[in-house]
Amino acid sequence: MRKIEHIGIAVSDIDKANDLYSRLLGSGPYKSEEVSSQGVITSFFKNGPNKIELVTPTNECSPISKYLSIRGEGIHHIAFDVVDIREEMTRLKEEGFTLLSQEPQEGADNKLICFVHPKSISGVLIELCQEKES
Ligand code: ZN
Repeated sequence: MRKIEHIGIAVSDIDKANDLYSRLLGSGPYKSEEVSSQGVITSFFKNGPNKIELVTPTNECSPISKYLSIRGEGIHHIAFDVVDIREEMTRLKEEGFTLLSQEPQEGADNKLICFVHPKSISGVLIELCQEKES
C-alpha cells in the first residue's frame, strides 16, 4: 500500500454536502460521478495532496443506504492506493483479513477497487484502489 488515496464520507444529500465541503475547502469538487455498480453518486475534492470523496446512495439497496440508516452521516471508509490490487487482495487474505469481494470491482475516479470488511480491521472499512490504465 503506497499511501492513503482518499477518505470517504457518507452523506444523505449530495448537493448540500457539495456546498458544505466547497465552503470548507475553498474550492468545489473536481469530479462528480455515478457508479451504478455500487449504487452511489460520488464527488471528489482535492485538498493539497489529499482527496475527500463524498458518497451518497442512489437506491435503497446501496450499502451506503444501509450505512446511513444505521450510523448516519460521517466518515465511511479510508482508501489506500495500491500498485497491483490482485496482489494486495491475495496478501491481505493470507494475513487473515476478510475481503468483501473476491474480484476487483469498478470504482469511481477510474479505479479498480476492493473493500476489506471492517470487522477484520478495528471497525474501519478499508478500500483498496488501483488506478486503471487509460
Ligand atoms: Zn472511496
